[in-house]
Amino acid sequence: MQNSLEKTPNSADSAPSGETPTQPVETVICKRCGRINALGVDRCVQCRSTVKGGQLARKHPRVTTDDPLTRQWMRERADAIIVDRGGRENLSTLQIAAIEQFPKLERLLDSWEQYFVAQGVFTRQGRVRSGYREGYLSTLDRYLKLAALIGFERRAKAVPTLEEFLNGHAEEGEGHDENGSD
Ligand SMILES: [Zn+2]
Repeated sequence: MQNSLEKTPNSADSAPSGETPTQPVETVICKRCGRINALGVDRCVQCRSTVKGGQLARKHPRVTTDDPLTRQWMRERADAIIVDRGGRENLSTLQIAAIEQFPKLERLLDSWEQYFVAQGVFTRQGRVRSGYREGYLSTLDRYLKLAALIGFERRAKAVPTLEEFLNGHAEEGEGHDENGSD
């Protein structure tokens, strides 16, 4: 039975064009005992050793930022932050670039958290998983640094005074100056 699952190199000799071929069943061979397992299983069904491609073998979360829903979420998230920081007209190009990066980092941080909820922080040998420091904590660190760079406070849209408006150039005068720019 399991032999039928074996990955055969394009044995589907005639896939009629225009018709989507049925997805072949992906398999992975156990390194220890040679048993063929379906791709994505955590442990070999025969010898119970960790199988490549399974969740347990993965040392980092799988992060997708490419699907339409995620892209939309990231867009809305960035826009909301931009509004919080006083709108595009009050931000530098670099600040906007930092804000655009931020949702990606949030997404990555989320994935790491889910990963550790699923896997646990410790390995079966009782060691802290390698991804915890290099992956999760360093992502958290970058996340906080970027957040600090962007700024935490909500900033009101700067409204020019009537005089400034009439003079045709709205000065950048506003209460907050937490960036301490040179
Ligand atoms: Zn095995």
